[in-house]
Amino acid sequence: MIPTLSYAATSASAPLKPYSFDRRDPREKDVVIEILYCGVCHSDLHTVRDEWSKGTFPIVPGHEIVGRVTRVGKSVTKFKEGDLAGVGCMVDSCRECANCKDDLEQFCLKGATFTYASKDRHDGTATQGGYSNHIVVDEAFTLHISDKLDLASAAPLLCAGITTYSPLKHWKVGKGSKVGVVGLGGLGHMALKLAHAFGATVVQFTTSPSKREDALRLGADEVVLSNDAAQMKAHAGSFDFILDTVSAPHDLNGYLRMLKRDGTMTLVGLPDTPPKIEGGALIFGRHSLAGSLIGGIAETQEMLDFCAEHGIVSDIEKIDIQNINEAYERMLKSDVKYRFVIDMKSLKSDAKAA
Ligand code: NAP
Ligand code: ZN
Ligand code: ZN
Repeated sequence: MIPTLSYAATSASAPLKPYSFDRRDPREKDVVIEILYCGVCHSDLHTVRDEWSKGTFPIVPGHEIVGRVTRVGKSVTKFKEGDLAGVGCMVDSCRECANCKDDLEQFCLKGATFTYASKDRHDGTATQGGYSNHIVVDEAFTLHISDKLDLASAAPLLCAGITTYSPLKHWKVGKGSKVGVVGLGGLGHMALKLAHAFGATVVQFTTSPSKREDALRLGADEVVLSNDAAQMKAHAGSFDFILDTVSAPHDLNGYLRMLKRDGTMTLVGLPDTPPKIEGGALIFGRHSLAGSLIGGIAETQEMLDFCAEHGIVSDIEKIDIQNINEAYERMLKSDVKYRFVIDMKSLKSDAKAA
């Protein structure tokens, strides 16, 4: 067993606190990773507060993990000790169903094993995430990270990066497309950078006037304050594609009406209450409303390689793990520029105190 230090929530109303547990020794195909950095995703917050009702506590959140391989199981071929490695939102799947065979493990028909708040397929134990100093993961779900990228800033690519890259690719965003990104948070700022890198014209929608200059710097061709009706109206019927990354309930119908004929709006944000859709916002213009979930492992590696080639990483604010509860409160106020990343060295001071 590998003694592991972490921060965990013990109930939906409890703040995150230091928590010690054991990781398994590596199985044949496992790599053991010393975690250096872990991004803070809004899904971590939804999960530890049980807003999606899937929690069995304690939960160690965190699925934007980068670190270094410290040990490998005896049949591992993709990694060796000392390699950089990343882990995103999934750690396993059935690998046999039609969706797994199509490299879309996130839609595994038997249910993907998520990095935390899920059950290990072999021994039934709870999976625990990256707010910890080690993780043990099958090499098939472990990603290579280029040493060209700043490691801390690359961590958010493992969720925010792939969750926005995958729908932009699937709906063929590129030169000539007019794309809207709704919400400038962790996912939103990656969507903006990636859509811009793909050559699209990008309009950033935000509720935060203070983010305007940043949005332009990050690649937006235009910034629209979503609570300004006149600014919104100016874009009616004009978008090929809109990606909605907002974490809280909000009106979708205004955005649907901004699509061109046959345009698609895709949701990646998952607020805790379902949206109200007006049929007319879809019917007039043959609009589609869709959703997208992270991305498969092969596509995640493709995205990481694309980002290494184009020098794309996240804009981050590094924090010590002791400040995680405060970081969550700031995230709820949309006060993150644009992703918190935990420096896992900070866990050591808890180890000394323990
Ligand atoms: P985040 O960093 O907190 O960003 C969310 C942004 O939404 C905020 O920065 C804010 O942008 C906007 N916003 C917040 N409250 C709002 C409100 N009441 N009305 C309108 N806009 C509001 O969160 P994130 O980590 O990017 O995650 C966003 C959502 O995606 C979460 O629900 C998360 O669980 C989900 N998610 C889904 C997937 C997937 O695979 N589908 C993967 C990861 C995360 P402005 O200040 O610009 O308005
Ligand atoms: Zn996430
Ligand atoms: Zn499967």
